[in-house]
Amino acid sequence: MINKEKAKKSYQMIQEMSELIELSCIELMAVLYDIKPALADLLNFDNFDHSYIKKLNRVNELCKKLGFKLAVSKYKFIVNSPRGIFEMVDMNDKRKGKLSVGVSKDINIALEGVELYYKKTLDSKDSRKFGEVMGYPKCCLDFGDYLCKNSKGDKKRDPNNFGFANPAVESLKRSKNFAWQLNVFSYPLLSYYPCNLDCKKSISYVDKIFDIFNEVDSGRVRRNKLILKEPATLYWTCADKILLYGDFYGDFKNSEIKYNKAVSEISSGEFYQSNDSKFLNNLNNIYKNIEKGNKLIMTSSYFEIYKDKKRIIKIKKDNQYVPVLVKPNK
Ligand SMILES: [Zn+2]
Repeated sequence: MINKEKAKKSYQMIQEMSELIELSCIELMAVLYDIKPALADLLNFDNFDHSYIKKLNRVNELCKKLGFKLAVSKYKFIVNSPRGIFEMVDMNDKRKGKLSVGVSKDINIALEGVELYYKKTLDSKDSRKFGEVMGYPKCCLDFGDYLCKNSKGDKKRDPNNFGFANPAVESLKRSKNFAWQLNVFSYPLLSYYPCNLDCKKSISYVDKIFDIFNEVDSGRVRRNKLILKEPATLYWTCADKILLYGDFYGDFKNSEIKYNKAVSEISSGEFYQSNDSKFLNNLNNIYKNIEKGNKLIMTSSYFEIYKDKKRIIKIKKDNQYVPVLVKPNK
């Protein structure tokens, strides 16, 4: 059992950290309670000026109190689409970029996290090493190798998914069941893609996180569980999806939902520094049609949006898995 009072105090500091530089509270707590050895992420910022440095200094202070070591990249990164890899540029480059950061109880691991965060986009060996440093399960590291191998310079390369063949869809293809804890199609607590959507090690990781959060913020646990369990997701990539709430029937291939609420998470426009406007317009157009309707039918070759019995639009798919309509079944 954890010491509840101490956990609450730590959680407050972690929330402050998270507000300052948008790091995930969940991952910070996971590092604090040794559920994982480190986290690494990219930070958005406008200018690397005095006020931003002040923020980072405050974060560093909080890290010291929590027993964390913080590492920050000396370069910034431009996340490009359709290239799917990061371009490393000097801090004084005029273009907007991101910093990579690592947090761990061990400074060497934090530093390694920062370095590998960039390198992993270039080389599959570094990608696996990054996963090892972050403590991902071996079965899922092997799956990561598969993703890398199948994403090199051929048709499977998906430029809108960091150059990988769509990882969430690859997990889906290998799954008989879909556990809500591993809902990589909504707001996953995992920072990697599981080898399948019923991976026992990954489920146990998520369950441990919920156990810790039950002690410090039960409201958050309720909200997180709701968003993992409730919506079905119309999913193109991790940066572009639409959540649909309502009655869902069917399986991974053919499904249908009568929905009463739709939430657009079409965000690749903000995520990437360069974008295909035709692709984005198309997605936003689909969302507009969804807002007019209340039912969506998905098949492997097309999907349709209805308002009651009247069909609003039928959209052909080039790929059976783009998009998919999915919801956990356990
Ligand atoms: Zn696994």
